[in-house]
Amino acid sequence: MIDRSLFENTGTAFTLKSDSELERAYFLFKMISSQPLVRIGTAATNFALKANLPVEGLIRSTVFDHFCGGVNEEDCLSVIDNLFTEGVSSVLDYSVEGKETEAQFDNALEKILKIIYFCDEKDAMPIVVFKPTGFGRFHLYQKKTEGVDFTTDEQEEWDRVVARFDAVCKLAKQKDVEVLIDGEESWMQDAADDLVEDMMRLYNKDNTIVYNTLQTYRWDRLEYLKQLHGRAKADGFKVGMKIVRGAYMEKERNRAEENGYASPICENKKATDDNFNASMSYILDNLNDISIFIGTHNEASCYLAMELMETYNISKEDNNVWFGQLYGMSDHISFNLAASGYNVAKYIPFGPVKDVMPYLIRRAEENTSVAGQTNRELSLLKAERKRRKL
Ligand SMILES: Cc1cc2nc3c(=O)[nH]c(=O)nc-3n(C[C@H](O)[C@H](O)[C@H](O)COP(=O)(O)OP(=O)(O)OC[C@H]3O[C@@H](n4cnc5c(N)ncnc54)[C@H](O)[C@@H]3O)c2cc1C
Repeated sequence: MIDRSLFENTGTAFTLKSDSELERAYFLFKMISSQPLVRIGTAATNFALKANLPVEGLIRSTVFDHFCGGVNEEDCLSVIDNLFTEGVSSVLDYSVEGKETEAQFDNALEKILKIIYFCDEKDAMPIVVFKPTGFGRFHLYQKKTEGVDFTTDEQEEWDRVVARFDAVCKLAKQKDVEVLIDGEESWMQDAADDLVEDMMRLYNKDNTIVYNTLQTYRWDRLEYLKQLHGRAKADGFKVGMKIVRGAYMEKERNRAEENGYASPICENKKATDDNFNASMSYILDNLNDISIFIGTHNEASCYLAMELMETYNISKEDNNVWFGQLYGMSDHISFNLAASGYNVAKYIPFGPVKDVMPYLIRRAEENTSVAGQTNRELSLLKAERKRRKL
């Protein structure tokens, strides 16, 4: 029997936070809970950064330090070591987005390779992550997804994207580090899916090194997973899958409406939840063939995963099952799962303040819009404050 009050243990959840850090987190979520404040704050911050006003210090001491590990990988070391004292591993996430030049893609590649060498030396870092569009232009993935022929130059450019994927997966295989590849917008995702599958064929022969992402807010994904599973069994490779609900819902729905095609997104939240849980059940029932990284802040899905692991006799420390949350969010899930013996990792975003702003703005907006999530953080922080006073 699993303990369904596990995530209410705020002492474990916030064990690493000093009283003043607890207060800062409370203040921050209180601000984020106000939609007008987030809107004004976002606009003012963007303006100030563009105008080179000295606001970096302010951003760092508020949102940045709460949601990010630092401006470079060395900065993150103290966070990584700290988390690991409580059994929580780290996935360093180079969160610089929207870059479009070959030099920037090569720079991102260098970063990830450096992180893999880092992982080789640190038990606290068993996994790395990258975004497909960190290694190549969005437009290129889109063209390939749409089946449009490349020009000669584009073909050469695509070959370089493939080479970057291969360099990461090859080194990860050598160093026995797992690689998560993020999921993005549906109109570029088929090209990324095919490329990740090629990597699985090459590097997942004996164990799972390469993981794709299944965005279960897409109603077609469980079928995709089953088909991929079939191909993997037939061709002798393991599937790695990070499962998430998906981060681009509004964008997906708007584009479908504007262009007059059926939305790829489930009709409502319940349908997404059902799809997430069904995909997770399917994988846990096929753990010999598919490894899973469960990326969610949803308590019910985490409890369900724990229950299914018990049903299928999967040990808590089985390396084929990982739970993951974002740094600065849902510590009550991460730390309580880790304290109970499950494999848990936090995504730790890092990068220059200016470059991680899109990531930070997404977090602020998500916490403002996702029903209940900020209120949940606030009530947990309040409960912990009260517990400490007592
Ligand atoms: C470790 C980690 C890695 C991640 N990696 C990725 C990634 O690679 N790609 C990516 O896209 N996202 C990624 N995410 C973000 C993720 O997709 C979700 O946006 C976020 O985690 C919120 O979902 P949830 O399961 O935590 O919680 P919940 O609050 O239970 O779910 C919120 C989600 O449900 C869905 N939803 C909400 N309302 C509706 C509705 N009306 N109809 C249909 N669906 C709805 C949306 O996907 C929304 O984000 C990652 C998250 C984590 C924790």
